[in-house]
Amino acid sequence: MVSIEHLEVRYGKNKPAALSIQNLRFEGGERVAVIGSSGAGKSTLLRCLKGYVQPVQGKVEILGCNLFLAPRRQRNRVNRKIGLIYQQFHLAPRMTVWQNVLCGRLGAARPLPSLFGYFSPRDRRIAWEAICEVGLTDLAHQVAETLSGGEQQRVAVARALAQRPSLILADEPVSSLDPLRAAEVLQLLSEVQKHHENTLIMSLHQPRLAKAYAKRIIGLREGRVVFDGPPESLTESKMEGIYGGKNLILFDDHATTGSG
Ligand code: ADP
Ligand code: MG
Repeated sequence: MVSIEHLEVRYGKNKPAALSIQNLRFEGGERVAVIGSSGAGKSTLLRCLKGYVQPVQGKVEILGCNLFLAPRRQRNRVNRKIGLIYQQFHLAPRMTVWQNVLCGRLGAARPLPSLFGYFSPRDRRIAWEAICEVGLTDLAHQVAETLSGGEQQRVAVARALAQRPSLILADEPVSSLDPLRAAEVLQLLSEVQKHHENTLIMSLHQPRLAKAYAKRIIGLREGRVVFDGPPESLTESKMEGIYGGKNLILFDDHATTGSG
């Protein structure tokens, strides 16, 4: 479903590569966490998969479409299948939960009517289903900026779900949340990923959350993949390889209670 070959991303001619990946594939239905220090290239990887960052070389293929070379129409079609979730939620703050989630249908709806707020019964049904799925029906008509951080991130998940995505990219989706809310949002993301069998790739700041909620972990260091494996093989020495340090107190087994 996602295939990366000989990819190199640079932010400026004389800058070192922010991302340099020889071969990386993600299959349909995978739940992946990308970990690594600040500046390791996690966001760059996710931005690249959404087509927001143009590589200096290499190929990214998603759902059989070459993300940087395919005709625009084909790229747009694939792009509509990629849902994005950000650390800072990125909702329209003055709009209601319902309106925010309907925005997830914008790519699929007819452009002119949706510009004036008209969505087909099918679009509205899909948006409502997404709101039900994240458990926000009671708050559907509340303005987004009045919600707590955890609730706002649930809206962002619903908006992504309303796209009926094949791929969900979540860039540090829980870094703005307290530990309990973070666990709830990761649990929700894991459940929706399992239910819809789409591919979820999320960057996570905390390795213990990656171990708890992902089935596969990618460790990035200075733009390169230095670890790729299941949570159980992410040993302390592998962690040192990813984060570049000894005696990292990064494991907190009490918190590893995520979904299977
Ligand atoms: P992470 O998400 O793992 O913290 P990033 O992907 O944001 O890492 O950054 C990887 C590298 O690219 C860093 O060295 C960062 O400074 C650089 N970088 C990221 N975005 C930009 C940008 N827009 N302009 C210039 N350099 C950038
Ligand atoms: Mg980042």
